[in-house]
Amino acid sequence: MAKRALVTGITGQDGSYLAEHLLSEGYDVWGLVRGQANPRVSRVRKLLQDVQLVRGDLLDQGSLISAVEKVRPDEVYNLGAISFVPMSWEQAELTAEVTGMGVLRMLEAIRVCSGITASRGSAAGQIRFYQASSSEMFGQVRETPQTESTPFHPRSPYGVAKAYGHFLTQNYRESYGMFAVSGILFNHESPRRGAEFVTRKVTLGVARIKLGLATELRLGNLEARRDWGYAGDYVRAMHLMLGAGDPEDYVIGTGRTRSVRELVEAAFTAAGLDWEQHVVCDQNLHRPAEVDLLCADPKKARTQLGWEPTVSFEELVAMMVEADLRLLADGHDP
Ligand code: GDP
Repeated sequence: MAKRALVTGITGQDGSYLAEHLLSEGYDVWGLVRGQANPRVSRVRKLLQDVQLVRGDLLDQGSLISAVEKVRPDEVYNLGAISFVPMSWEQAELTAEVTGMGVLRMLEAIRVCSGITASRGSAAGQIRFYQASSSEMFGQVRETPQTESTPFHPRSPYGVAKAYGHFLTQNYRESYGMFAVSGILFNHESPRRGAEFVTRKVTLGVARIKLGLATELRLGNLEARRDWGYAGDYVRAMHLMLGAGDPEDYVIGTGRTRSVRELVEAAFTAAGLDWEQHVVCDQNLHRPAEVDLLCADPKKARTQLGWEPTVSFEELVAMMVEADLRLLADGHDP
């Protein structure tokens, strides 16, 4: 019988790539969606006709239990979160509820549905759980590059909420013997990335300027450095983690870091433009506390999972600029 996966955050960038990957591996894929009319759900329906949808909300414990009971998944991927860092200062409590407490509710749903108690852990045929942890947990980094054992110092309510989810996943593994793991994913991008994140903001900005739809692009801190990879590569790592012999956490990234300035240069160059004529630095786009530098050490994933990224930074930026030029030329502007 085909394996079943339940994916939260199915309408987001990672959810769509993961669903495609699991479908190609022969899985029955179910996506958790909130009940009300949601334009992102109709978008995902077009993209992923073979995904089945089940109602539920990370804010609602009972709905998660019902969803797990209905789907009876072999694997649960918790990708649902409020994930845009600046919004986590504006809606800190909601971020804690969805991005942090949502992990507790999903783990509890799995525990209850599997009949796992403190005295009767590690039930046979247990559901495997993947938590989308984030490099934002490293925040003000204690060492570079960052590994699975680098201490956390989150710099935003988002990073704090992710750290809670990370430790809780570890705790359920240790307390109940659950196969529950976290992937500490560094920034990962694609043509499906939300328009508010810096990579997509830049590639959309470049496309608008190239097509004469805009003349300038306003950005915040150009000196911040990130380890940017391709989202399509990173969802393979999630699947490999749940297929591993032992439940363990992994850092997933490329091992190379670039500044926002380098990103901007690469994107404008890909479209044959000079960035200095168009980019305006806006103090209002700087953050209350910044994460200055992130760089992964993905050695453990390479050696234990055989995972390697396949798309370089330059290829990623070129792919995104090309996709946005096509999108805008077709009259769509997200
Ligand atoms: P994050 O690493 O999850 O916060 O991903 P983002 O893509 O939102 O931001 C990456 C880095 O780009 C951060 O250090 C931001 O401060 C920096 N940055 C500079 N200008 C901008 C901007 O206009 N928008 C965003 N989102 N980030 C910017």
